[in-house]
Amino acid sequence: MFKPKRKAVVVGAGIAGLATALRLGRDGWDVTVVERSPARRSSGYMVNLIGRGYDAAERLGLLPALRPRALGLFTTVLTRADGRPKFTVPAALAEATLGPRTLTVFRGDLESALFTAARDHADIRFGVTVTSSDDAGITLSDGTSEHADLLVGADGVHSSTRGPDHVVDLPYVVAAFGLPHPVPGVPDDSATTFIGAGRTAAVVALGPGRSSAFFTYRCADPAAELRKGPAEALTAAFGDLGGGVPDALRHIGPDTYFDAVSQVVMPRWSTGRTVLVGDAAWCVTLFAGHGAALAMAGADELGAALLAHDDVPSALAAWEASLRPEVLKRQALARRGMVQYAPPSDFHVRMNDLTIRAMTLPGIRTLVRRSVERANR
Ligand SMILES: Cc1cc2nc3c(=O)[nH]c(=O)nc-3n(C[C@H](O)[C@H](O)[C@H](O)COP(=O)(O)OP(=O)(O)OC[C@H]3O[C@@H](n4cnc5c(N)ncnc54)[C@H](O)[C@@H]3O)c2cc1C
Repeated sequence: MFKPKRKAVVVGAGIAGLATALRLGRDGWDVTVVERSPARRSSGYMVNLIGRGYDAAERLGLLPALRPRALGLFTTVLTRADGRPKFTVPAALAEATLGPRTLTVFRGDLESALFTAARDHADIRFGVTVTSSDDAGITLSDGTSEHADLLVGADGVHSSTRGPDHVVDLPYVVAAFGLPHPVPGVPDDSATTFIGAGRTAAVVALGPGRSSAFFTYRCADPAAELRKGPAEALTAAFGDLGGGVPDALRHIGPDTYFDAVSQVVMPRWSTGRTVLVGDAAWCVTLFAGHGAALAMAGADELGAALLAHDDVPSALAAWEASLRPEVLKRQALARRGMVQYAPPSDFHVRMNDLTIRAMTLPGIRTLVRRSVERANR
């Protein structure tokens, strides 16, 4: 018997939105994606596809496109404020802490792989957003309207689909941007990381198109920092550092990702036929290291639930029940992880150093690997 195609409107062409469009489009949905930005947003720092996120990338057929872009193993040099090396973290430690079914890529490479795969399955419109949505339909800012079985809010931590509530602001800002290669002050095929009281500056130099900088720092009023703009705020917070940092600061530009750090904590992620996915629903923050992975898993598992259930609300309820424990675990780990990225004092910096040094010992590395494998199960 002929079954009409179900219609979905996805708000946001970030990681969660593109993954949702790909999954639903492949499952036979008629998908329209609206992205507020006039063009693709391909910037960002490294993201880990790990656990359920790696499984989702595999099921979505993205691994062949992502593997050649994988950052692989590289050495990280922990530095002092002036850029001199403190000690080296061997590449094998990263492997042990992440486990075997992991892929580390730049966010931009993940966005590209998703966009290339999703555009064959969805109508993706840039410079367009939702202006209103009710039982009568969804009105878009390009003057068109849609009657959809499902409205997916994948519009990130500042989601308009969700609204301003349920955001827990944390006292940090974060910045990430690409760098030309080579990066003065950073040896090729390696990364340097400075971790000081209340701040981290990391610069990676892995070749052309694969070099970038990442900054995060603690501050009393993140909104005031954002008003200054990335150039002024980051120079004030990191201008005293040496190594690769001065050169990185010179490359702050219009593509620089610069935002406050917030978690989103909601009692439920769907109402009727509207569902939130990714940061819009459950932002875990960069401190969790799982934002992109959870966005991918959430999108793929949403598609699976919609295939398994005929009615949308039952599918959404089953999907949320399965995913929520993982999200809560990652949010709790992120709150603990802040101490690593922005240690409260020099004492905590020294304790962090001792922990990292201990983890480089071969026996301890095996223990780390086992505990990570347990955490990702
Ligand atoms: C350019 C960029 C760079 C990033 N860099 C990093 C990084 O270096 N480190 C890190 O930890 N995280 C970074 N993030 C966040 C990271 O991508 C997410 O935490 C994670 O991947 C979950 O993805 P998401 O799709 O839920 O959210 P996002 O990746 O933030 O995507 C949300 C998308 O929705 C769009 N959007 C927002 N509002 C509307 C609206 N009203 N209508 C239509 N579209 C809308 C946004 O423009 C964006 O494209 C970055 C996000 C962006 C957009």
